[in-house]
Amino acid sequence: MVGAGFGGLAIALRLSHLGHQVTILEKTDQVGGRNRSLKVNECTFDVGPTLLMMLDPFQKLFSDVGEKFEEHLPITLCDPNYRTFLSDGNRINCTTNVAQMIRQIEKLSGPEDAAAYPKMLGKLAELYHASMPAFVRRNYNSPLDLATPAAASLALKHGMLGNLAKGMEGFFKDPRLQMLFCIQTMYLGLSPYDAPWVYAVLVYMEYGEGIWYPKGGLSEISRVVAKLAEARGTEIRLNTSVSKVGSKHVILESGERLEADAVICNADLPYAEDALIEAISKHPASSKRHSCSSYTLYIDYEGELPGMLHHNIVMGANFQENLDQIFHKAQIPDDPAFYLAASCLTDSTKAPAGHLNLQILIPCPNLDHPWTDQDSEVLKHRVFARLEKEVGFDKSKIRGMAEWTPHEWQSELNLSRGATFGLSHDFMQSACFRPSNKSATVPGLYFVGASTVPGNGLPMVLISAELAEERLRRDGCL
Ligand SMILES: Cc1cc2nc3c(=O)[nH]c(=O)nc-3n(C[C@H](O)[C@H](O)[C@H](O)COP(=O)(O)OP(=O)(O)OC[C@H]3O[C@@H](n4cnc5c(N)ncnc54)[C@H](O)[C@@H]3O)c2cc1C
Repeated sequence: MVGAGFGGLAIALRLSHLGHQVTILEKTDQVGGRNRSLKVNECTFDVGPTLLMMLDPFQKLFSDVGEKFEEHLPITLCDPNYRTFLSDGNRINCTTNVAQMIRQIEKLSGPEDAAAYPKMLGKLAELYHASMPAFVRRNYNSPLDLATPAAASLALKHGMLGNLAKGMEGFFKDPRLQMLFCIQTMYLGLSPYDAPWVYAVLVYMEYGEGIWYPKGGLSEISRVVAKLAEARGTEIRLNTSVSKVGSKHVILESGERLEADAVICNADLPYAEDALIEAISKHPASSKRHSCSSYTLYIDYEGELPGMLHHNIVMGANFQENLDQIFHKAQIPDDPAFYLAASCLTDSTKAPAGHLNLQILIPCPNLDHPWTDQDSEVLKHRVFARLEKEVGFDKSKIRGMAEWTPHEWQSELNLSRGATFGLSHDFMQSACFRPSNKSATVPGLYFVGASTVPGNGLPMVLISAELAEERLRRDGCL
């Protein structure tokens, strides 16, 4: 196995539970990949994921190996999910509590939009339950797999291929609500203005099922899965970089060659195609489209910031222009929307008393834009100024700070072009069009993780491990 990211750990746990000998080769000194932790002074952060959503794949991984997810990782519902700061000064506590949402929407934009909210939620629940088994939790052998009357009628019935941002206009007349209920595709690094309606399932995951916090943080899930895999015989070799992947073998940077019945690559697929795989790919990564990146700040902040919750989203005045700059113009946004968190507000072990572990994630272009130090300074200045206005942020109270620009995402974790969410989820790289978990050119080589099927996000990556196991079984490897 190349890489101890979340997908690699999950498939290793699955295979070692079945009695197979698994060796994981991980270039860094930690397990988890994007889902690992980082320290700044005495503050601890989850490097990437902070929102635990869609519990079912987590519970399934654990139950498939005879364990209980909540016994290892007790979870708390974040209520509200998060607070949204609109540019006009309004604040919305986004919650799974339907009555509270209706009340807030009525106050913001009147009874018509308030009445539309439960209607939208009902429609999205149907969409979610229809699309998961039909399009997400399944392997594909060819794009023709979806060219069936059943798939076409399901897609038509739910309008799955319509435009997401336009679809929200059909529910709400207030543009602030249209925006509120389509920002979720940014979790995939995809603009809702370019996304098909089927991705509205993310809105249902949030408002229907909720956002959770596992004890110890999201990166703790990586550590627990790694421990369970090791207890079943998986060997994890940290600080071990792979330089080439071939048919049933890998070559380490040290020159050592390791043989295996099958090689599973968890290193991000476009990077692997460009840099690791010996045979020429039929569809090189250079011909694929990448998600956006994130400029991420991890701050030890001494003091309080009343007004913010554990999770917060701060919106600029023109979301569409913000995304146009990121996705189509490869520019630093003038008025960036961003995510702000302090997990210590739920889990006091994450920061010393009187401090906040402040995390700021600003969506930005991937390395199609040549990121410079000046870009970091400009964005920091814009975001700090907005936070000063919204929550009284004072930069003289920063006691330490780590910064991950697109360059760090690329150099630390080998994410091609620093694209933090892997390959883009546009229509032509979704479902049957997303790269398969089985190499077309190298016998015995499989993939798991965010850039193969079904896609990005921890729950999807867990499903990618389910699908990789199924593929290996079908090929007679298990
Ligand atoms: C900023 C950010 C915020 C996010 N927020 C959320 C969220 O709130 N909720 C959510 O569900 N998801 C979130 N995600 C998405 C989630 O983190 C990813 O989908 C998931 O972690 C990807 O896992 P993966 O299995 O693809 O592996 P990766 O995390 O890509 O891990 C791959 C591993 O391979 C290793 N590797 C690479 N090259 C080599 C090599 N040559 N030799 C050996 N090892 C190698 C890397 O070091 C890494 O450990 C977020 C992601 C980011 C970046």
